Amino acid sequence: VQISRRIAVQEKHLWHWYMQGEDEQHMRQLAILQHLKDAVAEQQLNLVLQPKVDCVSGRAVGAEALLRWHHPVLGHVRPDEFIPLAEQSGEIGRLTRWVIVEAFSVLNKAENAGIDMKLSVNLSTVDLLSDTLPKLLSDYVDQFSANPSSLMLEITESAVMQDPENAIERLQQLKQRGFMVSIDDYGTGESSLAQLKRLPVDELKIDRSFVQHLPNDERDQIIVRSTIQLARELGLKTVAEGVEDDASWQLLQSMACAELQGYYFSKPLPIEEFFAWYQSH
Ligand code: C2E
Ligand code: MG
Ligand code: MG
Ligand code: MG
Repeated sequence: VQISRRIAVQEKHLWHWYMQGEDEQHMRQLAILQHLKDAVAEQQLNLVLQPKVDCVSGRAVGAEALLRWHHPVLGHVRPDEFIPLAEQSGEIGRLTRWVIVEAFSVLNKAENAGIDMKLSVNLSTVDLLSDTLPKLLSDYVDQFSANPSSLMLEITESAVMQDPENAIERLQQLKQRGFMVSIDDYGTGESSLAQLKRLPVDELKIDRSFVQHLPNDERDQIIVRSTIQLARELGLKTVAEGVEDDASWQLLQSMACAELQGYYFSKPLPIEEFFAWYQSH
């Protein structure tokens, strides 16, 4: 009796503890949703730029813009945490517009500094399927007198697969307006080869999960090598993300990957630091 009573008490504690954890997470999500609305107006967002390098020479060729949010009370909130919530709440459009304006202003600064680079920005599923996106982007191109082909739009494979027919149509419109398109996190989103063939894109970004353990994982090597070959034969450029060591770089070079991105070259950097890095690489 005593033992079973003790177990019951323990279970109650566990349950209580579990519920508290659930509540805390829920509260945090609510707080994120509430504060996200003001993040743009309160100037709590900024972009960091992670260099992309040429696989053969290791020289800088461009960057990916990654969103950062610092809230005075919540602190740094990771994009993996707030982007999905922003998508669900409809707040994503505002964030994406902010990112795009910042991205064009980075491209302007680069041009003024005599740097010829491509800049990638991430779009969410909601952005991709919104019918105002192509015109919005073209309006910014006019406003900034920018070259649309300097902007690479990264769309995750799973975003495309959510509604392939619409996604393909939208991607075609973006390509017609001169933007470059990249399939992000490739290999995690269950697209079929038939669909890949139909996608009007310029670049495939092999997901970090296949790249991170490349030197020690023969299966990853097989997957990455054949993906690069497939992409090449379809006329797409391949980028490997998550390159963390020299051994991975050597392997990717032997596989004739086009471009690399990862901590081995640089973490995402604040804009001014990025320009300094770029010019010395
Ligand atoms: P992503 O687009 O696949 O971006 C790559 C992520 O991998 C970034 O994380 C980057 O910091 C990280 N990374 C790069 N190199 C390495 C490496 O060598 N090792 C490891 N462990 N990680 C590396 P981050 O900045 O936390 O962004 C996470 C995700 O959030 C992004 O994945 C993207 O899906 C989303 N995201 C970020 N910014 C935006 C944005 O402006 N709009 C949208 N819609 N999504 C964004
Ligand atoms: Mg990306
Ligand atoms: Mg990615
Ligand atoms: Mg990712």
